[in-house]
This record gives sequence, structure tokens and C-alpha cells, in this order.
Amino acid sequence: MDGATAVGQEGIPQDSRSEAKSARLLERLERLLEEAAEVEVELSRAEGVIRGVPHYSVIEGRAHAMGQRLSRAVQQRQMNEVVAGQPLTAKCPGCGTRCELEACKREVKAADGPLELQELRGDCPCCRRSFFPAAGNLGV
Ligand SMILES: [Zn+2]
Repeated sequence: MDGATAVGQEGIPQDSRSEAKSARLLERLERLLEEAAEVEVELSRAEGVIRGVPHYSVIEGRAHAMGQRLSRAVQQRQMNEVVAGQPLTAKCPGCGTRCELEACKREVKAADGPLELQELRGDCPCCRRSFFPAAGNLGV
């Protein structure tokens, strides 16, 4: 610590380094979103989906689909981070036996469309039950 620790709005300690990092990441995100919007416009023209003066609903529909695609990508990345930070064993909710967990993928129907999420699964050797410890906490 460099002594610059302060408490943020929600009681979360923040220091000048984390604020600077957040500012850099936000600036990068803005730049990438601008570029993504630019590429989407060029792609829609190259594919011929949008020509001349289209009905606005066509523009809005393409933009919304792109937003949903971004949302699914963020959800997948967040779940990968969650899985990476989880312990690799958990107690079976059925019998309490401590079981090894393995990363697996599962199809989920999210609000922004179907996606494949990574999560940890335990297969209890005693009661032959499969369970997903992180999913119970996350509401997936
Ligand atoms: Zn069990």
C-alpha cells in the first residue's frame, strides 16, 4: 500500500492506483465500443443488409443483436473468472462427502440468448449424484 487508500462510495477501499486502472479500462472500453460500432456499420454495408436509407427498425435490430452478442461474451468471461477462483472440491449436498470438482460446459438460456457457460461440477462417488456448487450461489 502506498498510503493513498480511501473508501469508495459503497465502502469498497480504493486507492489511486485502482482508480487509475479503472479510468484506463473505461477509456479502453469506450475506444473498443466505438471501433465495434464502426466495424458493425461497415459489416452491415458489406453484407448488403443495410443499403441506402433503410427503415430504422433494420438499423436498430442489427444494433440490438450486436449488444446481445456482447452481453453473452461478457457473461461467458465472467463465469470463466468465477470458475477460476473457486475451490476445486466441495461437499456433496446430498450426503456431505467431499468431492473433486471438474470444469464443464453447460448450455444456458440467458435473457440475451443461448450461450455455453463454464462451471464446476461434482460427481459424488457415494450417492452418484452430480451437483454444481457455484450455480446454486449464482442463480444460473
Ligand atoms: Zn453424495
